[in-house]
Amino acid sequence: MLKPLEEFYCDTCDQLINSPSEGMVEWIEATGEPAHSFNIVHHVPHSPRVDPNVPRSVEPRPQGCYQHHDKSHRSDVGLSNFTGEKGLVMLLHFIDIGPYHAPNYDGVSFENGREFTELFRRVQLPYYEEARRHWDKAKRDGFFDGSNEMWIYQPDVLKDVVKRYT
Ligand SMILES: [Zn+2]
Repeated sequence: MLKPLEEFYCDTCDQLINSPSEGMVEWIEATGEPAHSFNIVHHVPHSPRVDPNVPRSVEPRPQGCYQHHDKSHRSDVGLSNFTGEKGLVMLLHFIDIGPYHAPNYDGVSFENGREFTELFRRVQLPYYEEARRHWDKAKRDGFFDGSNEMWIYQPDVLKDVVKRYT
């Protein structure tokens, strides 16, 4: 079982990210435009796609697991900025930067609420990162039948999904 909110799966290579310090969150965000295409990926030094035997003088900017490597308006920050209390601050700023910086609320700064909420759950909701991998199986099996929209995301329920379907 993954250590909840400590270990994650890389969206590119599908291998384990051992701790938030070994991961990055990358996305696309042009100035004044909403953010989109969020990925949780390995930080280059920890990417299984980077050959440690190739010196940086030969390949100064290895792509590793980044998917937006060569795209314009890409942003990335360490995954540890999205976990814990610091992560809550980061995630909430996409919803509302607050009245100090924006006296008049101008809406969220991400493009797709479903995509953003998925990221939010992965980095803040214990056991979700692993449970989501078994979601379809649990759904087909009728595990969620008759349950309300809060119940299925409760950490003890997510833990149960992991135990049952791993
Ligand atoms: Zn990776």
